[in-house]
Amino acid sequence: MQKHFDIAFINLGMGDATLPIPSVVTDAISSAVLELKSEKTFRGYGPSHGELFLKKAIKENEYSNFSFTEDEIFISNGTKTDISAIQELFAEDSIIAISDPAYPVYVDSNVLAGRTKAFSQGTYEGLVYLPCLEENNFLPVPPNFSCDVIYLCSPHNPTGSAFKKHELQRWVDYAKKQQAIILYDGAYESFISSSDTPRSIYEIKGAEDVAIEFRSFSKSAGFTSLRLSYYVIPKTLSSNVFSLHDLWKRRTDSRYGGTPYPIQRGGEASFSKEGKKALKEIIFKYKQNALFLREGLSSLGFTVFGGIDSPFIWCKTLNNLSSWDFFDYLLEKAQIITAPGVGFGLSGEGFVRFSSFPKKEFLEEGLKRLKKIV
Ligand code: PLP
Repeated sequence: MQKHFDIAFINLGMGDATLPIPSVVTDAISSAVLELKSEKTFRGYGPSHGELFLKKAIKENEYSNFSFTEDEIFISNGTKTDISAIQELFAEDSIIAISDPAYPVYVDSNVLAGRTKAFSQGTYEGLVYLPCLEENNFLPVPPNFSCDVIYLCSPHNPTGSAFKKHELQRWVDYAKKQQAIILYDGAYESFISSSDTPRSIYEIKGAEDVAIEFRSFSKSAGFTSLRLSYYVIPKTLSSNVFSLHDLWKRRTDSRYGGTPYPIQRGGEASFSKEGKKALKEIIFKYKQNALFLREGLSSLGFTVFGGIDSPFIWCKTLNNLSSWDFFDYLLEKAQIITAPGVGFGLSGEGFVRFSSFPKKEFLEEGLKRLKKIV
């Protein structure tokens, strides 16, 4: 882009939200900010694990069918933060399993924490990689050996696949048998519409004993700049020695100052009647984009996966090109930017990720340009 500043590039690989935040949410944030200028309504530090009003809204709207309480929900400033920080719960020599390809933060945060060894042949030694290939529908399957901590993401970034109930049940059974903990990243759960695809891992029998679930307001409500997330650590989460829930609560009190109050009010407003309607419309638009892109790419002869319960479309490169060669080809010939699959892990080689977040007019223009070069 620096070399060709006069050319209009189109980024069809982006992972950021593009639709604006509903006004019911921004209004709630604004009035919460204004509360702070009055002596009567000023607030100081809030609870480090989150305000009760938001936990209540989450419990009522997202987890009403489950037995855990508000106390088991933690509010935070983004799943990126949460899913990295949670490692502090586990021993340094834990065996950590990560899907390949995956959201890069899982590997990178383990590298930063010093859990890995040498970097060799494109991977960090010291982690267990779970290949997500076409034969397993681009999702990880339980290995035939023991792991302590497993990162799962559904709908999966970058492959756009999502676990069916029976697939997730296998993981929960595996974790129970191995006494492992599942870190379940549900950042894209609001994109799920297939009836046999669980939105929460707690829909699976026994999951409350083995899983921590993470969710974000980033994509569903456009909070990527505001920062708001939550996660559930059930009190039933098994450990032979400690209550992981109590330990984490103690850790949070020591290391986290709490999520800004006005942002939490914005999160609460997203669960109001008006807020829910507005969020539904946002997701509907992104999902329409995903279908449009998926169908457009297939009709041009591309082999594509995902995009049904996810904003992401996993696209095979043409002529067996590597991810980066195909990326360069699309960039040079059509000025289209994609996300090279191998950037998410070695098993992503031979794929690129397209996304439904760009505005519809960019998707239309992108497909027109692709038509000229295939
Ligand atoms: N988890 C996955 C799988 C993601 O793709 C992303 C962002 O792209 C995140 C988490 C980050 O979410 P947040 O914005 O809440 O930090």
